[in-house]
Amino acid sequence: MSQQNLESLDVEAIRSEFPILEREFDGQQVVYLDNAATTQTPDAVVDAMSDYYRESNANIHRGIHHLSQEASEAYEVAHDRVAEFIGAEGREEVIFTKNTTESENLVAYAWGLNELQAGDRIVLTEMEHHASLVTWQQIGKRTGADVEYIRIDEDGRLDVDHARELIDDDAAIVSAVHVSNTLGTVNPVSELVDIAHEHDALAFIDGAQAVPNRPVDVEAIDADFYAFSGHKMAGPTGIGVLYGKEHLLEAMEPYLYGGGMIRKVTFEETTWGDLPWKFEPGTPPIAEAVGLHAAIDWLEEIGMDRIRSHEEEIARYAYERLDAEGDVEIYGPEPGPDRGGLVSFNLESVHAHDLTSIMNDHTVAVRAGDHCTQPLHDKLGVPASTRASFYVYNTREEVDTLVAALDDARQLFA
Ligand code: PLP
Repeated sequence: MSQQNLESLDVEAIRSEFPILEREFDGQQVVYLDNAATTQTPDAVVDAMSDYYRESNANIHRGIHHLSQEASEAYEVAHDRVAEFIGAEGREEVIFTKNTTESENLVAYAWGLNELQAGDRIVLTEMEHHASLVTWQQIGKRTGADVEYIRIDEDGRLDVDHARELIDDDAAIVSAVHVSNTLGTVNPVSELVDIAHEHDALAFIDGAQAVPNRPVDVEAIDADFYAFSGHKMAGPTGIGVLYGKEHLLEAMEPYLYGGGMIRKVTFEETTWGDLPWKFEPGTPPIAEAVGLHAAIDWLEEIGMDRIRSHEEEIARYAYERLDAEGDVEIYGPEPGPDRGGLVSFNLESVHAHDLTSIMNDHTVAVRAGDHCTQPLHDKLGVPASTRASFYVYNTREEVDTLVAALDDARQLFA
């Protein structure tokens, strides 16, 4: 994308909606490049949530009084807004959870534990986040199903031929990240879903790093399940989404029980309520749903295509600048349409934690560690990496600050 299009995003105007980006530590303004962990929250979202608490706060499930009706309406409508945003058929297919991790667990417990058995295969990728890897590994242990991993190639792309080998008639479910939170790889998820369906396997797509920054249409992908988190897309913490095809969710037993998810309870027996409430027991994240709704409005007002272009552009700039340093190893594919808005790297002979601490001295917020992809880091042959991840408010100048800080690390540690 050209610089002109980038400018048309008016990043300065966008930044003015995030007072936190003005914060200074030791006289230096924060450079927030930890967006794959959590994005910042614009005023519109904070205002929507505080308005809700000021004006409409009550418990939901259609209490008789006005406030409860208002809160119920806001909560229900938030499901519709999410459905519209990701191309789902309606609110029945949108379950609010705590986060992506809980969405993974919901399917693993409600579907996996009941349906899988020895001889079945769970197919993951080598770049899965622990949210999916650990969860399905445990379900494998408990059911006797094998867990296999689709290899990545040297560039950090999925080996689709290997996917075709692993996804055969024994495969019961394929769970894959849409965009890797470590490599930045954008996976060919529609192709994976098609391969899964050719063998009557289900496909779960982890969209935690995709929904925040690119248009996602779950029906076009044809995913059976799709998960993401509010706090990575300008929304609040405490709310995530599980999309599921209605007939699959209908057939699944709930995995958490309690109030709000039932139709009829006697001392002996309980029947379940309608979707999506069947999977949302107890008092749900009501204010957070209001916040997520506001975040989606805010994102769509900017435009998901423009957000993707901006992120790709900043990530490309960061990749090229880091690559030009000569002593920086970058993981994942070269910049292009199959790389998202993050760059994980190591500076020669400096541990990622030391580097990240030096970055913090420059008030650059990046993340060090395995980014919840330990087996992937083992495969890369490093214990950790430093990850810079970008969002709609980041600028090239911020990338320059990051790159300038490398010199200090070299002087201190190399
Ligand atoms: N999946 C991916 C690809 C992620 O990047 C993350 C968070 O970093 C998760 C799952 C887990 O998200 P949460 O912590 O919101 O459950």
